[in-house]
Amino acid sequence: MSRGRITPTQRQSLRILAGGCCEYCGLHEEDCCLPHEVDHAVAGQHRGETAQKNLAWACFHCNRLKGPNLASIDPRTGELTRLFHPRYDHWEEHYQMDGARIVPLTAIGRSTAELLRFNAMERLALREALLAAGRYPRREY
Ligand SMILES: [Zn+2]
Repeated sequence: MSRGRITPTQRQSLRILAGGCCEYCGLHEEDCCLPHEVDHAVAGQHRGETAQKNLAWACFHCNRLKGPNLASIDPRTGELTRLFHPRYDHWEEHYQMDGARIVPLTAIGRSTAELLRFNAMERLALREALLAAGRYPRREY
């Protein structure tokens, strides 16, 4: 089990796999002020490995808001629910787009969207501007 540093090869591999887009909110790295980062879906403090199956390409905001969290509260049911895992979950099963708004479809989707503030006013405004410019979404869902 590797819990060490992320290698340049792992970083580049994740970036290519993600098409340069955040694997949570879909924002392309060219459309962010801050560089995208490697996220441990299961944080090291929870024994998450530094291996492809546990790593994701994430924008600064999603990565910071997720932090070491593994779960959050589903805003609809109030139940503790695990977060979306980019390596094991399929984005389109948990979300759909309504214009620039990311609409959660499942408890996992709702919990993750709430914790990561996908539809916070400033994030939505950025996606609306990018959508109008034909720059969002850049991934095919
Ligand atoms: Zn993001």
